Amino acid sequence: MTQTTWNQHLVKKENKAIVINIIKEQSPISRAEIAQKTGLNKGTVSSLVAELIEDHLVTESGPGVSSGGRRPVLLLFNQVAGYSIGITLEVNYILGILTDFQGNIIIEKNDPHSQQSVEETMKQLKELIAYLIKAAPHSSYGIVGISIGAPGIINKDGDILLAPNLGWKDVSIKGELEAAFLIPVLIENEANLGAYGEKKFGSGQGIENLIYISMGIGVGSGIIINGELYKGNNGFSGELGHMTIDTNGPKCRCGNKGCWELYASEKALLNKVNKGKKQHYLHLDDVLELARSSDPSVLSSFDEIGHYLGIGMINIIHTFNPEKIIIGNRMANAQTFLEDQVESTIKKHILPLYQFNTEIAFSRLPIHSSTLGASAISTENFLNSYLFKQE
Ligand SMILES: [Zn+2]
Repeated sequence: MTQTTWNQHLVKKENKAIVINIIKEQSPISRAEIAQKTGLNKGTVSSLVAELIEDHLVTESGPGVSSGGRRPVLLLFNQVAGYSIGITLEVNYILGILTDFQGNIIIEKNDPHSQQSVEETMKQLKELIAYLIKAAPHSSYGIVGISIGAPGIINKDGDILLAPNLGWKDVSIKGELEAAFLIPVLIENEANLGAYGEKKFGSGQGIENLIYISMGIGVGSGIIINGELYKGNNGFSGELGHMTIDTNGPKCRCGNKGCWELYASEKALLNKVNKGKKQHYLHLDDVLELARSSDPSVLSSFDEIGHYLGIGMINIIHTFNPEKIIIGNRMANAQTFLEDQVESTIKKHILPLYQFNTEIAFSRLPIHSSTLGASAISTENFLNSYLFKQE
């Protein structure tokens, strides 16, 4: 191919991406509106739309409202052309969802998980994936991808290099899953997926500079700068749970001392309320129940966790000056018992210049942000490979 025809080829693919994205975001929409909003000429729009219809990614609906003259036919994004699987592998649960191409959840399954070996976890993951695949309605493209979020340091190839709270080191699960299901698999840090999920579906919509804190058994974070996920030089960014807040503190599973997650996480809370107790072990749901009934010792535990959550957030605010920080994962369910202490701690320690103009939010999709982010990434990867495939 000559340089010129190659360039024309690329321009066509880029235009097609523009067209499908506007239909996906703004459907129902007419061909004329697409031309008007994108600046592409009507002939180009029509021929690209014809290809998308032929490929089952776009459908036509009845006429829309017209301001006189012939009523235009409206175009719809065919969100059921295929499905994606999103999974969050956490220390104490594995959540799997099947979504359509717009991120609507078709079916979900939340399995308890505990300190299991890689082999046992793989068995559980495969059963979950098989269950979700079986539940998928018939579609043109079938299941286009499986994305799995895990709490740990993951390299660009999807190898889990270190997941202290899972007790995993140098674990690769991507190849085995791809071989088992013949579907592209992506392994990514769960907090990165959470940030992405919040940006796309949650309270991060329209926010360009956003920090998502995944507050589960451990603490992770996903960083969005100028609208893009910031992954760092090797893809290792966001290990804020292991920032040191007390050099003389207790030892963390990562090897360091006094890491933030030892003071502000589900595990920190559970250790505190269960300390020295002889009765049965209290889980998060039990602790929330006690807090709702105003149990004074549980409420003071929440105050202490909220204080340390605020301390970590001060460091985040001073480092990133974000528009918004979203607290997600299971501890977001404790908003009522944490938010006052978080706010007063931040107010007390923040540099005056910052004037506390970072919005603090608790996720409305607590355990779903990363799982929804996961399935959305699978869908996007599929659409990109469809649009930019080699012909
Ligand atoms: Zn640590």
